[in-house]
Amino acid sequence: SSRPIRAALLSVYHKDRLAPLVQVLRQHGVTLYSTGGTQQFLEEQGAEVIAVEDLTGFPEVFGGRVKTLHPKVFGGILHRRHEAGDLAQAEQYGIPPIDLVVVDLYPFEETVASGAQEQDVIEKIDIGGISLLRAAAKNYRDVLVISSRDQYAAVTELLIAKNGATDLDDRRQYAAAAFATTSHYDTEIFKYVSQDTAVAGTALRLSAQPATPLRYGENPHQAGTFYGDLTALFDQLHGKQLSYNNLVDVDAAVALMAEFTDGEPACAILKHTNACGVAQAATLREAYVNALSCDPTSAFGGVIIVNKEVDAATAAELNQLFFEVLIAPSFAAEALPVLQSKKNRILLLQKPVEFPKKQVKTLLNGIIEQDADRQTETAADFRTVTQSAPTVEETAALVFAGKICKHTKSNTIVLARAGQLLASGVGQTSRVDALRQAIEKARAFGFDLHGAVMASDAFFPFSDCVEIAGAAGIRAVVQPGGSIKDADTIRACDELGMTMVLTGVRHFKH
Ligand code: 5GP
Repeated sequence: SSRPIRAALLSVYHKDRLAPLVQVLRQHGVTLYSTGGTQQFLEEQGAEVIAVEDLTGFPEVFGGRVKTLHPKVFGGILHRRHEAGDLAQAEQYGIPPIDLVVVDLYPFEETVASGAQEQDVIEKIDIGGISLLRAAAKNYRDVLVISSRDQYAAVTELLIAKNGATDLDDRRQYAAAAFATTSHYDTEIFKYVSQDTAVAGTALRLSAQPATPLRYGENPHQAGTFYGDLTALFDQLHGKQLSYNNLVDVDAAVALMAEFTDGEPACAILKHTNACGVAQAATLREAYVNALSCDPTSAFGGVIIVNKEVDAATAAELNQLFFEVLIAPSFAAEALPVLQSKKNRILLLQKPVEFPKKQVKTLLNGIIEQDADRQTETAADFRTVTQSAPTVEETAALVFAGKICKHTKSNTIVLARAGQLLASGVGQTSRVDALRQAIEKARAFGFDLHGAVMASDAFFPFSDCVEIAGAAGIRAVVQPGGSIKDADTIRACDELGMTMVLTGVRHFKH
C-alpha cells in the first residue's frame, strides 16, 4: 500500500550525493532527524534538522559508539502502524514515527584495505547504523530504508514520481537490498576478526554473490542454484541457460585451458570435467581435429574450449560435432552464424578468469575448504632420476601431459606426445587400472604408443605401471615421486631403457 513519509532519520558517513534527496524530502515537509555530523551537513544545506539527541534526550556518548541506540529511535522505526496497541504505546511514550531511514555505514572494508591498525579498524565497525538498517528493513511494511549512496538517485526519482510516497513493493525491494548490505558488512567483519579467510569465510563470501536459479541440479530431481556473476566473465552468444552440469564442465574447461594461454593454438574437449581430447597445433582447426581424434566417441555432447579466435575453418569442423558448450576468447564474424545454426551454447570468454584462491565443498555436517591447486610444473621443475634423460621433444610432451594430468580426476594416467593427448585413464581406483584404461583407449582410437610419454598424478606405489607402460612402447615418465618404492620404479625404467623425471608435486583431484 502507498505510504507517505512523515519523518526521516538520516545518518550517513559519506555526505556526498545526499543533497537532491534531502531537497525532495524538504519539499514534502518531511521532518528530518539526524546524527551530529550529518546534522551539521544538512544544516549547511539550509535544512531544518532535529538532532537525534533532542529526540532521545540523551547525548552521543563514548566517542560516537552510541548515538542512535535508543527506544525512541528504534520504537519510531519498528512500531506497527496497523496495530492499535503499538500506536497507543508510541503515543504513551512519546515516540514519533520514523518512516524513512537513510544510512551510509562506516567504511569498514575500506579501512581494513587501507592497512589501518586494529584499533582503528574496530572503531569502524558500525553498530547503530547497521541496527537502523535492520530495523527499518524488518518493518518494510511501513518504513522505507536506503542502505547505499548508490540508491539516492533512484529513490529521489521514485519520490518525485510518487509524490513523496512509496508502495509496499518499493519498500520490500529496498529492504532486501538493506539486508544484502548488512550481511555483506557482517561477513567482512567476520573475516577480519577471525583473522583469515577460514572455512566459513569463503563460503559466506561466495554465498553473498547474486543467486541464479538453475533449471535443476546434477539430476532433474535435484534443485540447483548458481551463486556468482557469470556476466562478468562471459558473453553468452547463443543457446539456452547453462545447466548445473554445464557450469561444472565450463569451470573445468576454463581451468584446464588456463594452462595453455600462451603459445600455439590449443583446443580441449571435456566430458564430466575430464579432458577426452587436448591438442596444440599450428592452426586452431588442426588443434581441434587432433583433440577430437583422441576420443571422438566421448567428444559427443562435450564442452569445448579453445585459446584463440574461432575462425571459419575451425567453425566448419566444429559444426560437424554435437557439443554442449563452446568457449572461446573471440569469434571471427563469419564463424559465428555457422555455429549458431545448431543447438548448443556459445560463450565468449571476456578475460582470463581469476579463480577463487580457496575451494569449498559441503561434507558431513560442515564444509571443507582448501587452497586451490595453483601449481603447474615446467621443465625447470623436472629432476631426472634415470640413467638417461628425456629428449627435448619428450620433455615438451611431459610438460603437456603433466598439465592435463593435474586437471583430470584421480587416479589418473595421461598418455601423450608433444601437443597431443593420446588417452587418459580417469578416476580409477588403482593407478594400474588407470594405465590399462589409457593404453586400451589409445589403441582403440588407432594410436601407436611407441615413443609416447606418461604422466601420473601421484607416485607409483610399485614398479608395475612402468613395466606395463614400457611394454606398450612408452619412453618417458613424469610423476611426483615420494613412494618408499621409488627406487624399484626407477630401476625398472633403467632396465627398460626409459627415462623418468620427478616433480615432487602431487596433483590429486577427487
Ligand atoms: P554522523 O557523521 O552523522 O555523526 O554519523 C553518521 C554515521 O554514524 C553513519 O555512518 C551511521 O551508520 C553511524 N551511526 C549511527 N548511529 C550509530 C550508533 O549508535 N553507533 C555507531 N557506532 N554508529 C552509528
